[in-house]
Amino acid sequence: MNVECDLDKVSAYADSQRGEYENNLKKLVDLAGVSMEPDRKSEILKTAAMAVQLLESHGATAKVVETAGYPVVIGEFHSGSENPTVTVYNHLDVQPADGAEWQSPPFEMKIVGDTYLGRGTTDDKGPALAVLYAAAYAHKNGLPINVKFIWELEEEIGSPSFAQFLLDNESALKTNSVVISDTIWVSRERPAIPYGLRGLQGCLFKLKTGAKDVHSGLTGGLARNPIAELCDLIAACFDAKSGEVKIPGFYDDVRAINEAELNNFVASGFDVGSFKKAHELLSTRTEDARDASARIWARPTFEVHGITGGYSGPGVKTIVPHQAEAKISMRLVPDQDPDKIIAALEKFVKAHNKDVEIVKEGTLKPFLGEFTGPYAEAASAAMKTAFKADAAFTREGGSIGAVVSMQETLKVPIVFLGLSLPEHGYHAINENFDWQQARGGIIMFIDYFARLAKIK
Ligand SMILES: [Zn+2]
Repeated sequence: MNVECDLDKVSAYADSQRGEYENNLKKLVDLAGVSMEPDRKSEILKTAAMAVQLLESHGATAKVVETAGYPVVIGEFHSGSENPTVTVYNHLDVQPADGAEWQSPPFEMKIVGDTYLGRGTTDDKGPALAVLYAAAYAHKNGLPINVKFIWELEEEIGSPSFAQFLLDNESALKTNSVVISDTIWVSRERPAIPYGLRGLQGCLFKLKTGAKDVHSGLTGGLARNPIAELCDLIAACFDAKSGEVKIPGFYDDVRAINEAELNNFVASGFDVGSFKKAHELLSTRTEDARDASARIWARPTFEVHGITGGYSGPGVKTIVPHQAEAKISMRLVPDQDPDKIIAALEKFVKAHNKDVEIVKEGTLKPFLGEFTGPYAEAASAAMKTAFKADAAFTREGGSIGAVVSMQETLKVPIVFLGLSLPEHGYHAINENFDWQQARGGIIMFIDYFARLAKIK
């Protein structure tokens, strides 16, 4: 089958599936599988059961695999062991949603024209279903490729059981490549293929200098001030105006970004003005699109999320606080190693203020895939087939823990073919998805699978 030349047939297939796609998306969205809320467990389990049923009803094998946390659903369209295998990763758990703020109830999917409104429509149930329809078509039409599915149900809580799941099921998950459909384009006009993710290292700085808050008239000038000392420490760690981190060794392993990458970032349609508007930022550290896109996608950060301690009510209460805590994280980029970074930070903090205690919080490693080579080429060609525009290779500033786990265990190329748009309200109120992206996604994945079938 030469799908690249059979666009009419593939498009007609996508259109013929619209009604069924919408029915199934609604069934999935109406299940409030919020992994962050423990009392939603039964909805998570129902989601897993429905996922198995969806895979089986399209002709795939499927099962629920138990883990220490919520289960993972795996499935496969098998065409023959001599054929290459691609593994599709999506997640079917969703972010919480406070119905009072929404235009319509978040867990009752509403169709308005081409738009699907509801929690999980774009992140990540809509894209997951689009891939399923593409794989079912590829299978029915005898495409020589095996398509495996991994549908996770703990992505929104940081994939706590996923690394172990991969290790426990290594042989069942053997594959030649992975494709993930859980990322966002920069603008509707320009498909984006991210190939890098930032990592994260969180920590708390804690300082205690007394047993209780004391009067500044009695003790001020002599008593130490832990809030001020933490501010001084933070100022030593990084330059708040430029964002430059001053911890020795912090930038040692940062992989340089080349000109081609920077050109791609800007070609994605990234624009500082729209970015500021979208995120309601009054001003930013730069107005330059090249510098700005590199800052959010490919440069590491040091961030202060909050400082607690002392008095925070109205007016001024003249106390000297006795303890303070600063909530810190660093976004890390390839090839920074979180262990090395936290060691450098600890050494720096101890030298600067020996009384500050560092409490290590969550860790996620950065990810770097490829933006050249056969898989990247197949991805960008498939995007062009479906969306009639050249894809831009970008990176994402956030982290997806499952990606690094898959890279470490499966040891194969990982490609991101996302379908979400900035206006889809990822993790926000009134989350939505639309038929144009779903339809394009079905066509894109059929074309992508056809191209992968030729990579031996
Ligand atoms: Zn997601």
